[in-house]
Amino acid sequence: MHIQRPQQPVFCQQCAGLAQLLVDISPSQKIGNAHTEWWDSTYGKIRSIQGLQPDTCELCRILQKAFGRAPGFNASDTKISVWNKSLAEYRGFLHSTCSFEACGIKLALAPTLPVVRTEEGEEIIAFTSRFVVPLLNPLLVKSWMNRCEKHAFCQPEYSSKDFDFQFRLIDVVSGQLVTASPDSRYVALSYVWGGVKQVVLNRMTYQHLEEEGSIGVGGLRGPKAEDAPITLALDGRVIPRTIRDAIRLCQLLGERYLWVDSLCILQDDDFQDSSGAWTNADKLAQIPRMNTIYGASALTVIAACGSDSEAGLPGVHITSTRSTQIIGKIGDQILASIGENPLDAFWRSKSCERGWTFQEFLLSKRHLIFLPEQVVFHCSTLTWCEDHSLEYVDKPENVMAVPAWTKSYRLRPLQLPDASKWSQSVFFPAIFINQYFNEWLRNFLKRNLTVTSDILFAFDGALSASIGHLGAFYQGLPIDYFCECLHWSVGTNSMHYPKGKQTHTGLTQRRPGFPSWSWTGWIWNVASFEQFWLNYQGKDPSYWSRVAIWGVRRLRDGNVELMSISSPDVKSWDRLQFFPTSAFEVTDSFTHGELQSSLAMVKLSKNPLSYIIIKALTSFIYVDPEGTNKWSASRSVFTSPDFNPANLVGQLNFPEKWESKIKDPLQVIIAGSFFYGPSPKFPDQTDEDDPTIKCLVVEEVGDGQMERLTTFDTRFTSAKRLVWVPIVAVLR
Ligand SMILES: [Zn+2]
Ligand SMILES: [Zn+2]
Repeated sequence: MHIQRPQQPVFCQQCAGLAQLLVDISPSQKIGNAHTEWWDSTYGKIRSIQGLQPDTCELCRILQKAFGRAPGFNASDTKISVWNKSLAEYRGFLHSTCSFEACGIKLALAPTLPVVRTEEGEEIIAFTSRFVVPLLNPLLVKSWMNRCEKHAFCQPEYSSKDFDFQFRLIDVVSGQLVTASPDSRYVALSYVWGGVKQVVLNRMTYQHLEEEGSIGVGGLRGPKAEDAPITLALDGRVIPRTIRDAIRLCQLLGERYLWVDSLCILQDDDFQDSSGAWTNADKLAQIPRMNTIYGASALTVIAACGSDSEAGLPGVHITSTRSTQIIGKIGDQILASIGENPLDAFWRSKSCERGWTFQEFLLSKRHLIFLPEQVVFHCSTLTWCEDHSLEYVDKPENVMAVPAWTKSYRLRPLQLPDASKWSQSVFFPAIFINQYFNEWLRNFLKRNLTVTSDILFAFDGALSASIGHLGAFYQGLPIDYFCECLHWSVGTNSMHYPKGKQTHTGLTQRRPGFPSWSWTGWIWNVASFEQFWLNYQGKDPSYWSRVAIWGVRRLRDGNVELMSISSPDVKSWDRLQFFPTSAFEVTDSFTHGELQSSLAMVKLSKNPLSYIIIKALTSFIYVDPEGTNKWSASRSVFTSPDFNPANLVGQLNFPEKWESKIKDPLQVIIAGSFFYGPSPKFPDQTDEDDPTIKCLVVEEVGDGQMERLTTFDTRFTSAKRLVWVPIVAVLR
């Protein structure tokens, strides 16, 4: 193989000692094992240089450019660490960067060789760095899309011909809003409005936006500059830059149609129902269908720059942020800097702080993410970006072939699962809830919503996408696994939060208008979201015993509607009968009288909450004011207020803000029980298959109604010490 070595680089004495380090990052240098000394991806071998000579040395010149403006950097005495970092291995080529670090800034240089020849004579585009020029190359994006369209896992699950609502699109060629013809191919936009006064589709603008040329952005259509704003004669509102850039991008990519929520959904299609409440019919039809709208898009453009819809798409228009790449020449070799993990910048962006953008990302198969420094293509199979040329491989199953961050399986919890692989498995609901749905909620609940009552709307598309796997939902919980998921919890993890360091404050703030028993009913904070769990542990539903639950929905006309939630064929009711409550005949159905008196309580309330009526056993527990668990924020709980160790029944996750509640006994209601043992036959219990009793901690809030505070677990043997009595409770 011919090896092109850098020719006659001009180095200072110090950098001459690093020459081999730079030769090593050429992708054709693997043979001969030149990496012996430097190949260490964990800072194993670090050298350093100190005292730059940018006037005479080619490497010093690059380093001066990269670090010269860093706060605290002094060219004569700041020490710069130097090491090689291996990134990937492909067909015998080892791909590395030469990395530098000083003053908290990292610089990773890679060569910009476009093509190398393998020993078999095949020419491949090697792993190299690539220039990020001020304007994005549309052909690069087209090539990403074309390759992705062949990925088996990236095929859209929906098509716009399935839409059962009026679907409008922006025609970027004729510059107008059109009603989409069936099976239209389109690009969707995900962006942050951020309070910009922008043109929206409403009854006043509808006619204007349907006129040809009303949504042009120059470029293809006119002599004006590409970013000439379109002003509608309506309060001086404009189509904001991000949408204009997205229109321009579609034109550059040859994509004819663009979908943007603010221009394609009527924002004021309100009607007043018989109870006097206002509802937007167009939104109501489309918000639950976000799974199909984003799921059918050929590409979802994600604007991950700035904090509002005026931030635009860098690369579609010229911004200074895209010029941060460090480029330099050493000998005849051109080097350019590459970012460490471009997706990190995405997760830190404003876009990922907003609630609505969560499902827009989740539900799309193919994303084009506009970051300040570069554009990243991310699909359900892999990730490509502008500053690395990684297209030499498009099957990242070969774990050595690409840098770790490019493998989409790392993000898989934030994708839809491959249902075809699992649909026949009895484990699928458990896998779906534990590995996907939980992750979605953890990611979603840490985000902000401008309108807090949007909590279910902003997750509605994700729920719609889950119905096929889990069945229908009631207030965000799957009805078929309701008892298990009703026992959702948020708490400290003793492994991660040793005493004194834990940050958990518990859920203490209610979300108005939503029930306490659902995750929708609480305002979440970052400290608590990490430990959110829907506790679906059962591989097989028969491992759970359930209590009887009816759901109560308040209808718009003020009436209420009952829905059966606990499964009618509950087989394991007998497991709950071990409590000394022979007077209480546990069945999975309510008597007429029980339901009617509970409904009367619901009707008393003018509150629009969703309710559940739960028929179960209840008891009281006592929280030890001193009995904080050694490793977490949880408190010891007893059957009596003397806190006798013999009466210990478990631990309770107890937010500090509830200190005043410690002096009162707390009421618990059984939500179900769970067996770990293989043979859940009662009463022949052994200690090993001693069931865990799953309880809700509740408090009375007036009118005979209760609200959930937290959850409580106890083992059967401990639970027997408590005094249990039957209850029919209304939880709101
Ligand atoms: Zn030098
Ligand atoms: Zn793909």
